[in-house]
Amino acid sequence: MVNTQVLSTRGLPPALSLSLSFSTASVPIRVSLALYKISPSLPLTSASPPQRSYSTKRYRICSPSLVNMLEKMGTINLDSVIEEFEAMTIDAGRVQKETLKRILRENSNSEYLQSLGLAGRTDLESFRACVPIVTHKDLEHYIQRIADGDSAPILTGTPINTISLSSGTTQGKPKYVPFNDELFDTTMQIYQTSFAFRNREYPIEGGKALQFIYSSKQFKTKGGLAAGTATTNLFRSSQYKSTMKAMQSQCCSPDEVIFGPDFHQSLYCHLLCGLLYRDEVQFVSSTFAHSIVHAFRTFEQVWEELCNDIRYGVLTSRIAAPCIRAAMSKLLKPDPALADLIHKKCSGLINWYGLIPELFPNAKYIYGIMTGSMEPYLKKLRHYGGELPLLSADYGASEGWVGANVNPKLSPKSANFAVLPNIGYFEFIPLKECTDMLEAKPVGLTEVKVGQEYEILVTNSAGFYRYRLGDVVKVVSFHNKTPELQFICRRNLLLNINIDKNTEKDLQLAVEAAANLLAEDKREVMDFTSHVDRSKEPGHYVIFWEINGEASDDTLQECCNCLDRSFVDAGYVSSRKVNSIAPLELRVLRGGTFQKILDHYLGLGAAVSQFKTPRYVGPPNDAVLRILCGNVIKSYFSSAF
Ligand code: AMP
Repeated sequence: MVNTQVLSTRGLPPALSLSLSFSTASVPIRVSLALYKISPSLPLTSASPPQRSYSTKRYRICSPSLVNMLEKMGTINLDSVIEEFEAMTIDAGRVQKETLKRILRENSNSEYLQSLGLAGRTDLESFRACVPIVTHKDLEHYIQRIADGDSAPILTGTPINTISLSSGTTQGKPKYVPFNDELFDTTMQIYQTSFAFRNREYPIEGGKALQFIYSSKQFKTKGGLAAGTATTNLFRSSQYKSTMKAMQSQCCSPDEVIFGPDFHQSLYCHLLCGLLYRDEVQFVSSTFAHSIVHAFRTFEQVWEELCNDIRYGVLTSRIAAPCIRAAMSKLLKPDPALADLIHKKCSGLINWYGLIPELFPNAKYIYGIMTGSMEPYLKKLRHYGGELPLLSADYGASEGWVGANVNPKLSPKSANFAVLPNIGYFEFIPLKECTDMLEAKPVGLTEVKVGQEYEILVTNSAGFYRYRLGDVVKVVSFHNKTPELQFICRRNLLLNINIDKNTEKDLQLAVEAAANLLAEDKREVMDFTSHVDRSKEPGHYVIFWEINGEASDDTLQECCNCLDRSFVDAGYVSSRKVNSIAPLELRVLRGGTFQKILDHYLGLGAAVSQFKTPRYVGPPNDAVLRILCGNVIKSYFSSAF
């Protein structure tokens, strides 16, 4: 037996949080650690909960030889991860205070905090009194200076040397966001925490994951900083790969596929790799569920070509990128038996129901963010997934993480996220108490109330202080002393002409109701978005739909009326009744329009991994509006009022 002490004598003490256990031929070996504690002065395993310190700086993979060992044999000791999480959440109030102090102390020399007059103070009262609530716009000029190469401590004590691009789907272009080691560490902590809880309910065994993950274009900013989407910054990291291997979540596809120059070619090869490793695939995942649905819709188009590649061991000519071709040729060998099997399975399916378990017989679940703007894809995901459980992934943003899904058995519609109290300092603005004139005062993490909706503010080590993520969450329960949040929607209103107020969620519910009518014609809404047309007085709502195939005019007219009736906000209904908002318009789009929109965003530097269809297209987003308007094949006006 080799115990943790023996393997952790490299001058750094082991962290309790992640120990690894594996066995060789017959000897069980327990190893701590992929993760070492960076600060030897912090209390270790013997500390009782009230005295424990929970800096994320503890979580750093730092022993290459151990990482190699992990890559070969490691699995996470889930019990330790859960234990640590339980201890930290029991003590959430104190951990929050400590976390705020640490963030303010470590960044006290930053130009931003200095300019606010904090003068090194780290207490909550001074923080609230001195630091304003901000949006990305308020920080833009600081971030731009960082991107332009100013290496002074601007937002953080230690200069930032990597920039992330957030998806920026609502604004029409990606936003720059700082990325640093602390963000990386919290990402790993979130992934490990939810994995520990997930694996307790749905254990996976030493296999692979079919992951539809893609890097964005990577480039250097004017100041020479590496820039890419947050997920790209992660995927690039060797530490990320070691952790994924330790979590048995290693991607089937080689790096050349993940980092390929063309998304369509990468997607095809992800599917091909999945089929080649079909018996080993333990789960199917992507960052956002949209990418899984998109992948299997593509599979419906290319499955015979995939079978051909497998049969003859030769990659289709549609894959042109030499790096991808070279990597795939190492994996591909003629395998007529596998090609026949896949062909038979696909031919036997009715309307592709249950495709995923049919292709991957050992898959235990489907995993990805399925909440918020991903909900509209759930129906299709269930269709492809058959009986496989759908497990919704964690909650965060390029700016920082918030919570992990520690209740994996809940259906995606009820999924919630327990806030990790050591990854940032969190505040919550109660929304019910807001009037149009005055916003309610934010409350702390442990002061929130079950049933109440809040806008969330984040303070973290990546240079964000009282930063509006722009999301509305609802507290649905507590895990020990930390709240479990349900994602409700983006805070900004989508549709608003006069006194009406409709959010992303309202739009989603309206589309869901109307799409049920389409089902009678055996058609489905592939994707949707909205717009407010003010070109004539009074203005009206426009809903764009892309449908798979053709539906009758009668059905679409009914769908249009249903959409109009489904916005139940009192301001909207009363405005419609007196015609101060004109009849809602449903515009049906040519097939492939949303693919063009996706391609447009990819051209701007976005990555498919983080792509979210914009649910509202307004004036700053002219290019997307032009794509939509140029692809309308039919239009209907509501006669509901
Ligand atoms: P990005 O701008 O690409 O970093 O995306 C971050 C945004 O994605 C968040 O502010 C949320 O609006 C959304 N998001 C992230 N995680 C989730 C989740 N689990 N459920 C719903 N929406 C999410």
